[in-house]
Amino acid sequence: MTGRTAATATPAATPGDVAARATAGFRQRYGGQPAGRWAAPGRVNLIGEHTDYNDGFVLPFALPLRTVVAAAARDDERWTVWSELSADPVEFGPAEADEPGQVTGWAGYVAGVVWTLRAAGYAVPGARLAVASDVPVGSGLSSSAAVEAAVLAALVELGGLDLPADRWPRLAQRAENDYVGAPTGIMDQSAVIRGRAGHALFLDCRTEVVEQIPFDLDTAGLAVLVVDSRAPHRHADGEYAARRASCEEAARVLGVPALRDVAVADLDAALRKLSDGETRRRVRHVVTENQRVLDVVELLRTGRVRDTGPLLTASHASMRDDFEITVPEVDTAVDAALAAGAYGARMTGGGFGGCVLALVDADRAPAVADAVTAAYAERGFAAPGILTVRPAAGAARLD
Ligand code: ADP
Ligand code: MG
Repeated sequence: MTGRTAATATPAATPGDVAARATAGFRQRYGGQPAGRWAAPGRVNLIGEHTDYNDGFVLPFALPLRTVVAAAARDDERWTVWSELSADPVEFGPAEADEPGQVTGWAGYVAGVVWTLRAAGYAVPGARLAVASDVPVGSGLSSSAAVEAAVLAALVELGGLDLPADRWPRLAQRAENDYVGAPTGIMDQSAVIRGRAGHALFLDCRTEVVEQIPFDLDTAGLAVLVVDSRAPHRHADGEYAARRASCEEAARVLGVPALRDVAVADLDAALRKLSDGETRRRVRHVVTENQRVLDVVELLRTGRVRDTGPLLTASHASMRDDFEITVPEVDTAVDAALAAGAYGARMTGGGFGGCVLALVDADRAPAVADAVTAAYAERGFAAPGILTVRPAAGAARLD
């Protein structure tokens, strides 16, 4: 995730540094001190893949990797944004903010937040913002939602807006969907805004009801490794659209609003109504994946963290064989982690690249990381980025 070559996994927790970088960026670009700093994390999905658009269940948690925005209000109604990932600040006013797509590139995520707030009737204060981040960009850990949430938190507080945090995920999602034009579900924004340390967020994508589920790795002596496969995303957009269309068509044939409405007990009967083998496999993935999320939630409620491992691995097999969204790099990471003693491992995210997570004994984390790195070298893949993570807090003001 950073340009590390050493195999050993490193803990992902240096919040001070990223906050200091945001402040330094603010001072350098704008002069003076920021009025405050607001942070939002990346996220990883523990289980529940391609269930969101089927009205099903997901179980993400917020990461200790964070995006920090140092910000101050200004007197006029303009917004200047700078990120350490870009050379020059970008400035825009109400005309650009009120027309989705007018601000392009990374600053569009910021303009989208201004737009979504203004469209909802809020008086957004003009502001100068400086963004620094430890969340890897484009690896499937939701750096985009982290930017949206940190900017949203900053603007809400700078403007004294009366906007409770349970409304933030929907607003941030609209920024990404309707201003930037990137289709995403509600999972990313929910996880990075509502995540809580030591917990995973059980989200019902139909009702948007969330529940904090204890996910206490430390007490269990466990760790989660996140392996960035560094696989180039191959045809991911088209394949995503095809999976989605296939699920929607299957629901139509089965006469249900969404595949969420097919229970595991009714799966065989449902599959008999589908003539095409590929569609049957897609349906089997979604239906069994929803059940796996529910099963993992039940195990976590009773503190049986280690016992979730086989369900994680079963999720991976389902994505590989039935949903057909894995690639050799992620399969290699999963197989190597399991062979090195992981309790469970799976690809996380939409597929065709992205990250793998593995549940391991905390003291085995370095050995499992080394095994994955060795397997990559053997296959001639670019070295993976590997981090150990634990569930962290959602968006908040830092100081
Ligand atoms: P991810 O899985 O990381 O969310 P996306 O493609 O959804 O991948 O979002 C990545 C985009 O979000 C980047 O291309 C950039 O436009 C924006 N972004 C994320 N983090 C930052 C940052 N720290 N500074 C500027 N832009 C960022
Ligand atoms: Mg994203």
